[in-house]
Amino acid sequence: MNEKAVTDLKGQIRGDVVTPSDEKYDVARKVYNAMIDKRPAVIVRCADVADVITAVKIAGRENLPVAIRGGGHSVPGFGTADSAVVVDLGRMKGVRVDPVSKTVWAEGGCTWGDFNHATHAFGLATTGGIISTTGVAGLTLGGGIGYLTRGAGLSLDNLVSADVVLADGSFVTASESNHPDLFWALRGGGGNFGVVTTFQYRLQSIKDIVGGVMLYEVEDAPKVMRTYNEYITDAPRELGAFFAWQIAPPLPFIPENRHGDTFCAMVVCWAGPHDQAAKAIAPFRQAAHVVTEFVGPMPYPAMNSMFDGLVPAGLQHYWKAVYVRDLTDGAIDAHMKFGPRVPVVNSTIHIYPINGAVHDVATEATAFGHRDAKYATVIAGMWPDPKQNEVNIRWVKDYYAALAPYSERGGYINFAASDDTDRVGANFGSNFDQLRKLKSKYDPSNRFRINQNITPLS
Ligand SMILES: Cc1cc2nc3c(=O)[nH]c(=O)nc-3n(C[C@H](O)[C@H](O)[C@H](O)COP(=O)(O)OP(=O)(O)OC[C@H]3O[C@@H](n4cnc5c(N)ncnc54)[C@H](O)[C@@H]3O)c2cc1C
Repeated sequence: MNEKAVTDLKGQIRGDVVTPSDEKYDVARKVYNAMIDKRPAVIVRCADVADVITAVKIAGRENLPVAIRGGGHSVPGFGTADSAVVVDLGRMKGVRVDPVSKTVWAEGGCTWGDFNHATHAFGLATTGGIISTTGVAGLTLGGGIGYLTRGAGLSLDNLVSADVVLADGSFVTASESNHPDLFWALRGGGGNFGVVTTFQYRLQSIKDIVGGVMLYEVEDAPKVMRTYNEYITDAPRELGAFFAWQIAPPLPFIPENRHGDTFCAMVVCWAGPHDQAAKAIAPFRQAAHVVTEFVGPMPYPAMNSMFDGLVPAGLQHYWKAVYVRDLTDGAIDAHMKFGPRVPVVNSTIHIYPINGAVHDVATEATAFGHRDAKYATVIAGMWPDPKQNEVNIRWVKDYYAALAPYSERGGYINFAASDDTDRVGANFGSNFDQLRKLKSKYDPSNRFRINQNITPLS
């Protein structure tokens, strides 16, 4: 970036402006996935909306792409890019709850940990992710799948409005009644349409839940998957549950002689009355012998951070994703071939249900284009040692190839790898054409292209 532009930024920005010559540059350019090593032109750590407007305007003037960073968790590292202006919202973490209307305003740099901390004090919550360190922003704009999805819908289904800085630096609040086409596109279009500085959500009365994890022997996985597939179809909506493969970490509830062994797992979260929890979870207890479990009442934020320790910042990440309509025998065979070969304790695969409340909303009602799927499956390769890159990436790719014949062509945009660009249309699904039209309207020069990119119509 030329000197004048840097001087202009430094003169107008209340937050930090970090350039390659700054000592802080190497720390500021890091994102969650340690495999990402990009050198942006400048990193603007915005203090407020005014900073965001300035950064976007100057990027436009200098004709540089903008990489928007919310929580920085994008696996392909979309929160940074070579020669880009990084608009980093990490300092913007304000959360305001209105307990009377059960709504919350959360700034674009919040993680789900920040969000839950604020809402839990009022006994309120909405769908966030499975762990607490992920950003509210990227997760919501791509969909938002978590423990509460079956009852409360995707995170984006709970969005009431969004404050947005558009590509030309103008500011709008998008909602059902104000810029409804933009509001539609934001709910599933990822970071393609502007920088969302504040999200407003509806909340539900959810305080403590009954949840945790059950581990089963690998050979029982087909029974567990079949039970899961059958039961989750019509299970009470207060039940969140997902199937996983997991190497046992050294935790007190797992017998010491089994630490390091591979298991299949059901993770459950019952958000209904506590005296009905045992009945709601019973089918999973009866599916096969439960080797050990850690399930009980706890505050919702505790459930939301239960697995944080398995995924600290600084691991290498390579993920693939598919949408699935049903867990067929062929799919179960593919899982049995590759699931037990999960290479390290951090890596996993999760089969998340996206039925229940997600299916109540029409596919064309928001930009999220895969409401006909029953599951979103992620194969998440996560490992500490770069020397293990090849073996982990191979495992993810082989697993993905084996599942492909039993899956939809598209996968959840928030789980997709950066080498999936040939599948962007399939990942956005049936709403892709409309998204391209709106991209042409709101970001015709593709200023926001560091993402699962929706290219404007030429
Ligand atoms: C360990 C881990 C666990 C995860 N668990 C879940 C889960 O349970 N459920 C789920 O649905 N997903 C999950 N994800 C995927 C997650 O939804 C995506 O990685 C998401 O993009 C993260 O959002 P972020 O703000 O942290 O990321 P960032 O890297 O900051 O941004 C990701 C994308 O969103 C855009 N973006 C970010 N902030 C804004 C903003 N304010 N305005 C406009 N665009 C913006 C960026 O441009 C980029 O394209 C997980 C990811 C990881 C690494």
